[in-house]
Amino acid sequence: MKVYKFGGASVKDASAVKNVGNVLANFGGDELLVVVSAMGKTTNGLERLAKAYFENKPEKNEIYKEVKQFHDQIIAELLSGSFNHSYDDIENLFIELECELETTPDENFDQVYDQIVSYGEIFSTRIVSTYLNEIGIKNRWMDARNFISTDSNFREGKVDWETTNRLISGKLQPIVKKQMVVTQGFIGKNKENLTVTLGREGSDYSAAIFAFGLNAEQVSIWKDVAGVMNGDPKLFPDAIKINALSYPRAIEMAYYGATVIHPKTIQPLQHKGIPLFVKSFLNPEAEGTCVGVEKDKEDHVPTFISKGNQVLISISSKDFSFIVEDKLSKIFELFAKLNIKVNLMQNSAISFSVCINNDEKKIPQLIEALNTDYKVKENQGVELFTISNYDEKSQAQFSAGKKILVEQKTRNTLQWVLGV
Ligand code: ASP
Ligand code: MG
Repeated sequence: MKVYKFGGASVKDASAVKNVGNVLANFGGDELLVVVSAMGKTTNGLERLAKAYFENKPEKNEIYKEVKQFHDQIIAELLSGSFNHSYDDIENLFIELECELETTPDENFDQVYDQIVSYGEIFSTRIVSTYLNEIGIKNRWMDARNFISTDSNFREGKVDWETTNRLISGKLQPIVKKQMVVTQGFIGKNKENLTVTLGREGSDYSAAIFAFGLNAEQVSIWKDVAGVMNGDPKLFPDAIKINALSYPRAIEMAYYGATVIHPKTIQPLQHKGIPLFVKSFLNPEAEGTCVGVEKDKEDHVPTFISKGNQVLISISSKDFSFIVEDKLSKIFELFAKLNIKVNLMQNSAISFSVCINNDEKKIPQLIEALNTDYKVKENQGVELFTISNYDEKSQAQFSAGKKILVEQKTRNTLQWVLGV
């Protein structure tokens, strides 16, 4: 049994969907679960729609129309002009969304967000599944929410693994054994049957959840890059492909900010030793990257990861007292309470610095709380730059002309907080 995941870029227009058809025709095979994201930038559009609906702004109708037209265009091209009744279902889904937009929204924005934004995955999988059936790649559409059970932490749902595994292995596995299944990434539901999303770009994670429950022999994530590169090709034009990675290294890369794989994806796969292949849907014959090899078999090329939109918060005690255990534990309690993830930290006797994601809501709360006991300095708009497997050459190359605010080195990894 295998799990394939196709992200937004792989279904961004009609010809992209046709290409997915080709990949499946040539590399599909039996016992396959196909996880698909929303088409192109649909999720961004639906995010705007959720906000406009929640705030009852008139532009909600405009945004809805944009999203609808984008999908209509793809449907029209995939059908090559001929009318097909199976697309009535998709039309009904749009009507359903339109009706929902006429109702009064719940007062919890995150809940509203998930109910609206999840339509992107439903539209895309309906379209892809229908198209594949039309070209003879027989498959069954299934609603991922019937298998992925979460808590009610909207927009960042936590998976209830016990229920999820029971549903996937008991109910989904027998179906996948018989027929290819097309389902959604990114979405699950809570005990009250409300949709809960798993966090932006969460479809990779969905693929891993399904692979875990199905005891799949492998997962492939099909992307518009050759595999996992040693740097984002948009930022590092000389980036090369990494052929093989161990699980810990892939987890580390995702943690430092590599966007190629969603950070939560690796853990469930590592647990069962399921290899993850990152492959190009533009060049499906090519090898791609294999994640899950032994440490001594992985590539040791220097790898560059840039995490932007960071804030450096530096605090020092007002009375020059040491910032040690008792104070640090209170500071960390505060981070935990505000649900702030620390990307890098450094401390000296009387000061402590953290690099965290920029968050308009949480940072003012954090600073306010720290201000009572500490002097707080804030550097906005900084970048966290990581080189794993660094060497002299890569270090010299990337430090040139940079304003290094904080530096941290271990034997394998070098991190800088870079100012603007
Ligand atoms: N469509 C969702 C997003 O764009 C999930 C995903 O693509 O993985 O965030
Ligand atoms: Mg996406």
